[in-house]
Amino acid sequence: MSASPEPMHIQRRASLRELNTFGLPAVAATLVRIGSDADVRRVVDHPEFGLASKLILGGGSNLVLSRDVNAVVLKIEVRGCRLLAETPDAWIVEAGAGENWHEFVSWTLAQGWPGLENLALIPGLVGAAPVQNIGAYGVELKDRFHSLDAVDLVTGRSVTLDAAMCRFGYRDSVFKHELAGKSVITRVRFRLPRPWQPVLGYLDLERKIAETGNTAPDPVTIAGWVTSIRRAKLPDPAVVGNAGSFFKNPVVSAEQCRDIIGRDPEVVHYPLPDGSAKLAAGWLIDACGWKGKSVGRAGVYEKQALVLVNRGGASGAEVLTLARAIQESVYGRFGIRLEPEPVVW
Ligand SMILES: Cc1cc2nc3c(=O)[nH]c(=O)nc-3n(C[C@H](O)[C@H](O)[C@H](O)COP(=O)(O)OP(=O)(O)OC[C@H]3O[C@@H](n4cnc5c(N)ncnc54)[C@H](O)[C@@H]3O)c2cc1C
Repeated sequence: MSASPEPMHIQRRASLRELNTFGLPAVAATLVRIGSDADVRRVVDHPEFGLASKLILGGGSNLVLSRDVNAVVLKIEVRGCRLLAETPDAWIVEAGAGENWHEFVSWTLAQGWPGLENLALIPGLVGAAPVQNIGAYGVELKDRFHSLDAVDLVTGRSVTLDAAMCRFGYRDSVFKHELAGKSVITRVRFRLPRPWQPVLGYLDLERKIAETGNTAPDPVTIAGWVTSIRRAKLPDPAVVGNAGSFFKNPVVSAEQCRDIIGRDPEVVHYPLPDGSAKLAAGWLIDACGWKGKSVGRAGVYEKQALVLVNRGGASGAEVLTLARAIQESVYGRFGIRLEPEPVVW
């Protein structure tokens, strides 16, 4: 006798307030919990959900919910972490898309498989990490990526994508373009190179070396440094609702950069190999006087102008009104259009 399939985990009129780190109020008409590839296929084959539009939800830490969600919300809960291979030049490790990112990073370090330490404490789940090619302190996901499994939301077919197919860029991938909302990432594999090489060429980490006198920190020490730097700079979403950096750092031509430096010699900028330059969006926002300001119940974080916060009871519309006001003043003063980093729904 064949076992009857597990019932689908469906919730109607589900509150999303606790499921997004901004703490924005929104209600999902339907929320389905996804624990496996088979669960995605059951959604695809479902008479009511198959053709409906979908919102794929991880930890909700890179999302601005501006309204109730009529799309079917797929809450990703695929679990499991394992070592797939250990070769002389790498450890290949796999994690389910529903694993908590920071817990996964801590687990790899505890197992003695370093490489993800600079990405410690980034909120969210493993499955969303490739979507925007998460990055921090000199390392991006693409530097440690092997491949991922995803299920197509139209055909229900499982596919494996390598790095080239993911088309990673700065906070960008194919999952923000052609595959946006069309493909559910269910597992991600990482290639952690051996021998391990620390990545320490970042000002805050250099400061830690100077402070501690430890010029050869091990991976766990680096993860600890990154964790404490992040805690000092960024608001904890459990205390103050936010989605991390609200705008991408804009890239401008060498000529535009020279022009801005001519007018504002202090502008924080990082030259790029092709001659262009990345400007610190937080500096531009701060220069326009926004740090600590509010529009309604949405505000600009006092310690970091790049982070917008929920001062208590803010709606998504208030956050977007504040974001637009910031974009207008930065454009007015510098001629630069800031682009939001989180997905706006
Ligand atoms: C305090 C704070 C600090 C942050 N710092 C950083 C940082 O240093 N660097 C950085 O890069 N980001 C940072 N972020 C942003 C955020 O943590 C990352 O983008 C994270 O990867 C989002 O994960 P999530 O599970 O919460 O995704 P969600 O917000 O749930 O989803 C984000 C997007 O990914 C899609 N998605 C989610 N899961 C899947 C899946 N399994 N398959 C397909 N699509 C999916 C969603 O549909 C949505 O479009 C920060 C956020 C906060 C709140």
